[in-house]
Amino acid sequence: MNHCVLIHYHELSLKKGNRKWFEDRFVSNVTKQLKGLPFSNVKLIVGRVVVFDINPEYKNLYLARLKNVMGLMNATTMVQIDADIEQMRQTADYLLENVEFKNFRVTTKRQDKSFPKTSIQISMDVGGFIHQKMNKPVKLKGAELELIIEIVNGFAYIGFEKTKGFGGLPVGVSEKAISLLSSGIDSPVSSFELLKRGVNLTYVHFHSAPATSRQSIKLVERIVQKLTNYSLNARLYHIPLLEVQQAIMEQIPNKFWILFFRRSMMKLASQIAELENASALITGENIGQVASQTLSNIRVADDASTFPILRPLAGSNKDDIVNRAKEIGTYEISIEPYQDCCSYFVPVHPETRANLDEMLDLEAELNIEEEMCDAFDLRELKIYEYNIENL
Ligand code: ATP
Ligand code: MG
Repeated sequence: MNHCVLIHYHELSLKKGNRKWFEDRFVSNVTKQLKGLPFSNVKLIVGRVVVFDINPEYKNLYLARLKNVMGLMNATTMVQIDADIEQMRQTADYLLENVEFKNFRVTTKRQDKSFPKTSIQISMDVGGFIHQKMNKPVKLKGAELELIIEIVNGFAYIGFEKTKGFGGLPVGVSEKAISLLSSGIDSPVSSFELLKRGVNLTYVHFHSAPATSRQSIKLVERIVQKLTNYSLNARLYHIPLLEVQQAIMEQIPNKFWILFFRRSMMKLASQIAELENASALITGENIGQVASQTLSNIRVADDASTFPILRPLAGSNKDDIVNRAKEIGTYEISIEPYQDCCSYFVPVHPETRANLDEMLDLEAELNIEEEMCDAFDLRELKIYEYNIENL
């Protein structure tokens, strides 16, 4: 009897051409995610991934870690035995011996069609055995406990309680993007949504130290460390924006400040994208959430970027974003107080319907070349690795 985790992955089977590469990446990410926990090997077995020789005492630890692997649909701790009906009955009995449940069902999947019984026959046989032995009723719809049997390549895997993952694609299978990360609630969530699509992220944070406290820098670093639970590693650039902001504030009417801060951020982030060989920028903007996030203002910011800007949260509702932030563990960090580089300098009545041509005319007169070059040159790069101590 081998204690293992049986994993089903998401969408990989759809990507015919790249399938092998995706699967290898997924297996490698699973292996890295389990660092420090006992297991012998991680194997791809006909559309499933199995982690062998786990220590069942740490069941919840394996499942909590595996939930963070992008691309994972569900994971169940199981035991692997020979595909033999008597062994299946005895194993089911052994697994359920000390488990409390009122009713149950058995669900069987049979990849190995050479096994003499059909899936339904296996479920009925093992279910009948448990029903008699433990005196528990079968309930096909809404059972409290679902015993899962999978017959694969001459073996049977038996377990119960599936842990659902986030789905998506393995981190690292898509190209690279630059995520503009504040320590607010939205941008960590928008970053996560694209990590979930396999995108490789490098983060950029703009700060206004020493005019604002360095708190936002510390919070962003904690957020990036938290996001390595999903991405396994990360690169973060801190860019000092204060001098650029001061130059803008001296030369531009205050109701346009935010727009020009944004344009300067987009230009600097585009430079980082060139440097990092990335193909897009990502922000946590959400239409209409604050005065600055109107379509016309977004157009003004967009025009300053030489890369497409993805806004995964454009149409999300705030409560969904908050729930996601709680689920991925960034919410608690984001709600800590900090001074944001933009809100610190926000005028009372910021422009909400900027006109791009007018802004470009103003920008033609704006002299910030030197400050922009300095900001880029003074960037600071930090590198983060998945670290089990930060889980
Ligand atoms: P968030 O919750 O992500 O801070 P927000 O609702 O506060 O977003 P804004 O302040 O308008 O909205 O910022 C919009 C987006 O611009 C952010 O989601 C982020 O992608 C980017 N951004 C804002 N401030 C910074 C910053 N200091 N450094 C990097 N990116 C930033
Ligand atoms: Mg913010």
